[in-house]
Amino acid sequence: MSSILAGVPPSPAADPANAFSKDRRAPAPAHPIDGITVAKHLRAEVGERAAALGARGTTPGLAVILVGDDPASAVYVRNKIKACENHGVRSVFAKHDASLSEAELLARIDALNVDPSIHGILVQMPLPRHIDTHKVIDAIDPHKDVDGFSIRSAGELMNGVPGFRPCTPYGCMKLIESTGVDLRGKHAVVIGRSATVGKPMALLLLEANATVTVCHSATPDLALHTRQAGVVIVAVGRRNTLTADMVKPGAVVIDVGINRDDEGKLCGDVDFERVRHVAGWITPVPRGVGPMTIALLLANAVRCARYRRGDLSFPGE
Ligand code: NAP
Repeated sequence: MSSILAGVPPSPAADPANAFSKDRRAPAPAHPIDGITVAKHLRAEVGERAAALGARGTTPGLAVILVGDDPASAVYVRNKIKACENHGVRSVFAKHDASLSEAELLARIDALNVDPSIHGILVQMPLPRHIDTHKVIDAIDPHKDVDGFSIRSAGELMNGVPGFRPCTPYGCMKLIESTGVDLRGKHAVVIGRSATVGKPMALLLLEANATVTVCHSATPDLALHTRQAGVVIVAVGRRNTLTADMVKPGAVVIDVGINRDDEGKLCGDVDFERVRHVAGWITPVPRGVGPMTIALLLANAVRCARYRRGDLSFPGE
């Protein structure tokens, strides 16, 4: 499944030694990993693929379903729809009241599953409590599973066969790739074990031959693990989960978290201002992982359409 994502431009910092000045007592700040630039490159490729499909009579179609009034979800959905518009993907948006029943939502998904103009289906999470998330995800035709959240996609990742990879962890892999750091044999620590970020992240790192440790809320001493790691991925949803004393000098630090600081400004899970003086590479929040999630979503939507046309033998190829 690499072809559409190949050729991500390397970051100017491709050598860990560059993370430090000659005076080891005065480390230079980490090289920022610019998610906007890497995502822009991927989006341009996706746009070209979508245009080529359009010229052959197939406009990739993505159905986006939002249930309820969660303000953060509304922003995420708006950004995804805008990205579709700008890259030749037709989005079909359906907003439903929080009172929508599970049966109604499943019926809506059934209709989209058989709609030939819809190639990918995205249901924005979280769903209201009365709806079973697993049931909904598994109602989506696996060939239209742009988020890569289905049991089938998870099994494909687990077994190392082509399939849809969840957009956020796959985007993190592309960001690491952009640094030029070879993951083979590196110790990578993932903090967080959700089915949508932490677990697939760990499997992708394993696939890239890293030695992987997964930490979570019951891990007694996070720093014990992170201090040994050449790569740390933080996906918790809590500010300052990773502080400077927990980071090995020169490490690659990927911050997936989305939080607000005391002034209400967006921030991640990493104490960015301090960690950047220890790490070799670091993603900021915003402008780090977030833009990659959307770029990979577009890539998956275009893959769905290419599969439908018979250009790919597996949808996630
Ligand atoms: P989640 O489902 O709430 O999972 C959080 C994970 O963090 C859980 O595995 C939890 O452990 C672990 N955790 C909680 N407290 C911890 C602690 N003190 N020490 C170590 N681990 C701890 O969240 P998620 O969906 O994976 O998302 C994580 C963060 O990433 C959130 O801020 C979310 O908004 C953000 N996110 C960003 C993007 C993006 O595009 N930028 C996409 C997805 C998610 P247990 O399993 O033991 O409870």
